[in-house]
Amino acid sequence: MARLTAGRRHVVIAAGGVLALAGVVSGTVAVATEGSDNPREISSRGPAQDPKGKPSGTPSGTAPGTTPAATPSAPVSPEISHETEAGGRTVALTIDDGPHPTWTPRTLAVLRAAGVKATFCMIGPQAKAYPDLVKKVVADGHRLCDHSVDHNTAMDKRSEDYQKQQVLDAKTMIEQAAPAHTPIPYYRAPGGAFTPYSRQLAAANGMRPLGWDVDTRDWQRPGVDRIVETVKREVANGPVILFHDGGGDRSQSVEALARCIAWLKQQGYGFSFPKG
Ligand SMILES: [Zn+2]
Repeated sequence: MARLTAGRRHVVIAAGGVLALAGVVSGTVAVATEGSDNPREISSRGPAQDPKGKPSGTPSGTAPGTTPAATPSAPVSPEISHETEAGGRTVALTIDDGPHPTWTPRTLAVLRAAGVKATFCMIGPQAKAYPDLVKKVVADGHRLCDHSVDHNTAMDKRSEDYQKQQVLDAKTMIEQAAPAHTPIPYYRAPGGAFTPYSRQLAAANGMRPLGWDVDTRDWQRPGVDRIVETVKREVANGPVILFHDGGGDRSQSVEALARCIAWLKQQGYGFSFPKG
């Protein structure tokens, strides 16, 4: 992993300590957007948000009357995670925008066959609609991530009350679909549309803000070969890799995921979860 890019900056710095990230992520370079072709968001989706989670908007504390719930255990950093728990030569696969009745089971089958665990960033209403899929994801040993209620990639431009509703209502929906007491250790803003407020809110509710380092752009359906090549080319950028199991036809994603896992194994990569 010798190749460094601008996007790698805070990954390198993060190795020195999570809390040291404060004030550093503002140097992040925006390169791409994350999204899906879910029809409901096409009309409302704005230009690319910073996928690395560049803090946007005016820094602000918690607004009056919006005090987050008590932190259940150890404090969670509000800085965006771009590391794996295991560190070293590992990656963290993250699967966004599900669960979906067609693509989530196929994604799970690929991961099960490979013996690899991933993190599923779920949209609240879909978790509510498909609780059995949420339970299957958990039963297979994967982790859950809150990916908001409406996948509004411009939510960083909205009020704190709106952001709070998007973050916490989705968390509740996912929790109610999952087996009792299943943790939701991450929050990933749609399109990386984090704000200082939403990051603090997520952290105060036990969810580490989760970024990504490799955007496969699989949701654009560029072809399986292109998706695989993107992973090969960009894995040096950092360990958190973004795939999708929702938002449209994800057949390319499923096939590419299997090929990417095989290639990563050949290259000596292990698989871990994002650092919480
Ligand atoms: Zn998404």
